[in-house]
Amino acid sequence: MAGNYKNDDIEAQNDAAESGEVSETRTESDKTDGEDYEKVCFVCHRPESKAGKMITMPGGITICSDCMQRAFDSFEKNGMPYGFNLGGTNQGTSGNENENGNGQGGGFDLSALSNMPGVGVINLADLGIGNREIPQNQKIKKKKAKEEKKAFDRSVIPAPHQIKKMLDEYVVGQEKAKKAISVAVYNHYKRVGSDSSDGVEIEKSNMLLLGPTGSGKTYLVKTLAKLLDVPLAIADATSLTEAGYIGDDIESVVSKLLAAAGNDVEKAERGIIYIDEIDKIAKKRNTNTRDVSGESVQQELLKMLEGSEVEVPVGSNSKNAMVPMTTVNTSNILFICGGAFPDLEEIVKERLTKESSIGFRAELKDKYDQDENLLCKAEIDDLKKFGMIPEFLGRLPIVVALESLTKEYMIRILKEPKNAILKQYEKLLAMDEVQLAFEDGALEAIAEKAMEKHTGARALRAILEEYMMDIMYEIPKDDNIGRVTITRAYIEKRGGPVIEMRGVMRLSVHA
Ligand code: ADP
Repeated sequence: MAGNYKNDDIEAQNDAAESGEVSETRTESDKTDGEDYEKVCFVCHRPESKAGKMITMPGGITICSDCMQRAFDSFEKNGMPYGFNLGGTNQGTSGNENENGNGQGGGFDLSALSNMPGVGVINLADLGIGNREIPQNQKIKKKKAKEEKKAFDRSVIPAPHQIKKMLDEYVVGQEKAKKAISVAVYNHYKRVGSDSSDGVEIEKSNMLLLGPTGSGKTYLVKTLAKLLDVPLAIADATSLTEAGYIGDDIESVVSKLLAAAGNDVEKAERGIIYIDEIDKIAKKRNTNTRDVSGESVQQELLKMLEGSEVEVPVGSNSKNAMVPMTTVNTSNILFICGGAFPDLEEIVKERLTKESSIGFRAELKDKYDQDENLLCKAEIDDLKKFGMIPEFLGRLPIVVALESLTKEYMIRILKEPKNAILKQYEKLLAMDEVQLAFEDGALEAIAEKAMEKHTGARALRAILEEYMMDIMYEIPKDDNIGRVTITRAYIEKRGGPVIEMRGVMRLSVHA
C-alpha cells in the first residue's frame, strides 16, 4: 500500500482545530455546529469529553490518544520498529496515563515505517476513508454538564384545550381521540418537568391508538409532534424482531429518534416514538416455534416503554464497530403505539353479544354486525384475547380508538384541514391565475370512490391525483382559461369539467 501520512498533516489539522479554524475536510454543517458537537474516536467510539483530546488524521478521521498509544504499544509488542512517539508523551507506557493527552505534536514519521521490510502503512485515503468527510451523524452533540441542565420548562407546553384547538386545524373529526391525546401529552410533559422528591411519581402516559387503516393515527401523532416541536420517530412493529434475529433490534427505534433530534441526546429524551402496526406483534396463536417477532418483541419493548437506559448507535440503526454509541434514557420519551387490530372487532362483538344475550334485556344476536365502530368499545380483556400480553398493555395506560371514516368525514378531510388536498390544488392553479372549484357532487363522488377502496382517507389523494393530472396538464396551455369546475360527471367519467374563459364564456367539456 503506497502513500504515508505525515506528522505535519496531523499537526497542521490539530493546530487548526486548536485555533478554532475549521479544517477543509469538514462539512458546512460542521462549521455551524462545531461548538455544540464533539468528535468521537473512530476506534473506541468515546466522545472527546470522555476520551480526551482527539488527534485528527488526514481525511478528518479522529482518534483518541489512548487508542493511538495502544496502536503504538502493539507495534512495540509485536516487534515492530519503534522510535516514534506520540505527542512527546509516555512512549511505551500505558495509554491511560495519556487520558488528557494533548494529541498534538506528533514527532513521528510514518514514512519511515513504510520503508521497513514487511511493514505496510495504511493510507486511509486508499481505503476511501481518507477521502470521506467525517459524516455529521458520526458526531455527538455535547451533553451539558449536570448543573447546567435546565429543568424542563413546562410553560412551553400548551394546555390541553389549546393542543386540541391546534389539532382541530389539521385533523378532522376524531374528537375523542384528539381530546385524549391532548390531555395525555400535557400530563406527560408535566411529568417530565415534575420533581418526585415528595415521593409522588407521576406515571408515564404512553398511549395505544386503535383505528382502521387510514383513519389518521399516524397523521394525528405527526401533527402533534410538529405542533409541539418535539422530535418524532415512526417505526413499524413488523420490522422489529427479538435481538439476534433477522430484522431491526428494538433499540433501532430510539436510534431513529436520536437522528430526528439531530443527534442531540437531551432533545431525543423528550421526544415521541410512534410504533405503527403494533397489532402485528400480537402473540401468535397455536405456534410451537419461538415467537421472535411477536410475543418476544412485546417482552423486549417493556423496559423501553417504562424507561431504561438504551445504548444506541449514532447515525445508524445497526450496531457495528464503525459506529459510535451513546446512551439514551427513555423514561421521558412518550411512546404511542397504533394498530388497526382487524380481528379485535370480532372479539368485541363476541363479548358484547354474549353479554347482551343474558338476562331480561337480551338483544338481537346481529345487533353489532353493522356497528362500524366496534373498536371504540374494546376493553383491555379484548386486547389480551387478541394476543397483547398484560404487561405490555399495562405500560400503555391510555387506550383510544379512532372512528372509521364515513363519507361525510372524507368530504370534510378533502376540504377542511389547513393543508387540505383541495386547498393545495387551488393554490397550484391560482399560480396560473386560474380558479379551481369543485361541485358538491364531485366531492361526494370522490369520497364514494375512496370508501370503496377500504384504505381510509389515504385513498383520497390517489383518486384526486388521477383526475387532476389532465387538468394540470391542459389548463396552462391556454392563457384565456379563468376558471375550472370539477363536476360529478367528470369524476364518474360521464362528462368533463366546466371550463370558463376569462370574461363571460362558459364551456362544458365533454369527455
Ligand atoms: P393510519 O391510521 O393508517 O396511520 P394515516 O394517519 O397514515 O392513517 O392517514 C392517511 C392520510 O389520511 C393522512 O396522511 C392524512 O392526510 C389523511 N387523514 C386521515 N385521517 C384524517 C383526519 N381525521 N383528518 C385529516 N386528514 C386525515
